[in-house]
Amino acid sequence: MTNQRIKNIVIVGGGTAGWMSAAALAKVLGPGHSIRLIESEEIGTIGVGEATVPHLSLFNKLLGIDEAEFVRETRGTFKLGVQFVNWLKPGKTYVHGFGTSIGLDIGMLPFHQYWLRAFKSGNASEIGDYSLNTLAAAHGKFMVSAVDAPPNTPLANIAYAYHFDAGLYARYLRRYAEARGVQRTEGKIRETLLRPSDGFVDAVVLESGEKISGELFIDCSGFRGLLIEQALHTGYEDWNHWLPTNRAVTVACERTGPPTPYTRATAQTAGWQWRIALQHRVGNGHVYASPYISDDEAAATLLRNLDGAPLGEPRLLRFVAGTRKKVWNRNVVAIGLASGFLEPLESTGIFLIQSAITRLLTLFPDRNFSEAVIDRYNALSRFELERIRDFLILHFHATQRDDTPFWNYCRTMEIPETLRSVMALFREGGQFIRNAEELFGLVSWVEVMLGQGIMPTTWHTGADQMSEKDLNEFVAHVQQVIATCVDAMPPHQAFIDRYCKAA
Ligand code: FAD
Repeated sequence: MTNQRIKNIVIVGGGTAGWMSAAALAKVLGPGHSIRLIESEEIGTIGVGEATVPHLSLFNKLLGIDEAEFVRETRGTFKLGVQFVNWLKPGKTYVHGFGTSIGLDIGMLPFHQYWLRAFKSGNASEIGDYSLNTLAAAHGKFMVSAVDAPPNTPLANIAYAYHFDAGLYARYLRRYAEARGVQRTEGKIRETLLRPSDGFVDAVVLESGEKISGELFIDCSGFRGLLIEQALHTGYEDWNHWLPTNRAVTVACERTGPPTPYTRATAQTAGWQWRIALQHRVGNGHVYASPYISDDEAAATLLRNLDGAPLGEPRLLRFVAGTRKKVWNRNVVAIGLASGFLEPLESTGIFLIQSAITRLLTLFPDRNFSEAVIDRYNALSRFELERIRDFLILHFHATQRDDTPFWNYCRTMEIPETLRSVMALFREGGQFIRNAEELFGLVSWVEVMLGQGIMPTTWHTGADQMSEKDLNEFVAHVQQVIATCVDAMPPHQAFIDRYCKAA
């Protein structure tokens, strides 16, 4: 039997996707593989992608990266969730806090079922008052459980993600990958050569004339999809009718106060604006739907809503929500923006890169490129993306806003059946069942559905097993425990100063 193992891997692109792929492949596959990364300084990277979901810490752990060093090197801060301002209606704010439970779970039922019963009889306040992440975010508090937490309290299990400078992260990973043998080539690819026999990619040719061959190609070339689309013509499924934002204008500004341990997403007339506080600056972007607002107006809105002086000129980016029809086609796996795009409302871009890398490593092919492997990879990728897509649509669709044509469109648009059934189930009895392999779990869906005004008609019958007095005492106790925990947490900035101090 001939050895069919893949030895030569070519990564096209050196943005976050390219360098995350290079670092992980070098670490997991080891020195027996040649990994070559091609990037063009002239083309550059997209240069956004500063907020994450909690899973990134697992990726860094896989690489053996020290968390304090990572936060220090990327000028990072910590993120407990996303604050949504004016999404349900102007003046209304809620937080999607990370975590696997709200309040304290007892028995089989999640806490929100008890809360629903108490809330509906006027004996409980907003759900966020029972969430450690939401309350800590509101008070600007943060700590890493492993560092400070007393055991057997909610403080022992704080879920968090990061905000960081994406350019610094890519540079950090580049050093990591090069130290493990990844060979970087600077240059612009001018042509892709296909094998006549089967249409697989054989090599890419640089403007210098150099030809770089490979067995497996990872397309991390950004929106242009140099291999997956321009060479293989895979096709794109457009989801713009469900996620109508298609542009963003971005600018960083000076920080004027301590960094907030959450991302802020403020709804605007034709989209929304993000605010991400790093150690050295605040990242801002206005994501909007171009049929409803001009680029000039969008930029003016962005600049009107900054904390401090802008650090440079606003940059315009264009995108189309959707996915490649296949993210793995022949011997090309597209990762990052080359594979598709979901707008950044829940900061899922870098997570999707991470999970694509993990999936590729799990289903790592040989030179036969079996259809079974490729089909499984594509099916899993699509499932994951569609569930995140639905979660994003929820934020836009479940709104009471009727003040602009954009919000009227979002509120009344047709939504995918998969989302309609999730909303219906929750509306009836507050139930939610997470599908395996789905990124966002019960807490995320429940917080966003409640935050967007979907109030269940009733609660789970199991919550009736407590007497009303016991129920009210339990709910009040949870609120008090959460408040006490938040009191004990340090201010976010003080934690960063202590935790990330160089040794
Ligand atoms: P890019 O950064 O565009 O890199 C492409 C690479 O390909 C570059 O190195 C380029 O030089 C190279 N290249 C292209 N063509 C050639 C060629 N011909 N020859 C040689 N090299 C070539 N994600 C999050 O997780 N959180 C966020 O908060 C977030 N916010 C976002 C906000 C906006 C407005 C947008 C658009 C995206 C956001 N994302 C976010 C997504 C995130 O930015 C991307 O997932 C991430 O940056 C990965 O980009 P990339 O590496 O795929 O592409």
